[in-house]
Amino acid sequence: MVDRPAQLIACHDCDLLQRDIPLNPGCTASCRRCGAVLYRNATDSVDRTLAYTLAAGMLFLGANLFPVFSIQVQGDRSAITLFGAVLSLWEQGMKSISLLVFITAIFVPALELLSLTYLLLPIRLGLVPPGYSRFMRTLQFIEPWGMVEVLMLGMLVSLVKLTNNFKVIPGMALWSFGVLTLLLAAAAASFSARDVWERLDPRSRGETKP
Ligand SMILES: [Zn+2]
Repeated sequence: MVDRPAQLIACHDCDLLQRDIPLNPGCTASCRRCGAVLYRNATDSVDRTLAYTLAAGMLFLGANLFPVFSIQVQGDRSAITLFGAVLSLWEQGMKSISLLVFITAIFVPALELLSLTYLLLPIRLGLVPPGYSRFMRTLQFIEPWGMVEVLMLGMLVSLVKLTNNFKVIPGMALWSFGVLTLLLAAAAASFSARDVWERLDPRSRGETKP
C-alpha cells in the first residue's frame, strides 16, 4: 500500500469528522461518538463478491430461461417462465404490475450482476475498467430496486395457493431463484464500495504526482 496523508471521513449517522486510518484485515472502524460502523477492511472482498456474482449470473440465466412452474389441468400441462408471466400481466391490462415485476426481478438484477462483473473482473486481473465511476454510481442507484427475494416470497405464496386447485410442478427456475436470492444477498454483503474505489482511484494507487 502507498503511504498517503490521513484523509478525513464523516460518520454517515452523526456527521462527526474522523481520521481515516488503515485497518488490519477483518477489522472494523466505528464512529467514536455514536458507534456506527464507518468502514471495514474486508479480506478478499473483491474475490468473494466476484465469485458470488459469477455464480449468481449463471443461476439468473437458469431462472429466466426455464419455467418457474407448470400447471397440470385435465392432462394438459402448461409451463410459464418469469418473462412469460410479465408478458401475460401486460396483455391482461395489468401494465403497472407487469412493469414493476420486470424492473425489480429482471432488469435491475441483470444490471447489478453485469455492473459488478464489469467492475470486479478487470480489478481481479489488475486492470482498470473504463468509465468505472459511472458503473459505481449505477450500482448505488439501483441497489434499493432489486427485489428478487420479494418475488421469491410472492412465488411461494402463489404456488401454495395454486396447489389447492391444480397439480403444480415446481420448475427449474424456482430452485434457481431460491439459490439466486441467497447468492445476491451474499454478493451484496461482501461487496465493499470503499475497497473498489481504493483499488481504482489513481491517488490510492500512487499514480498521480503530488
Ligand atoms: Zn457517528
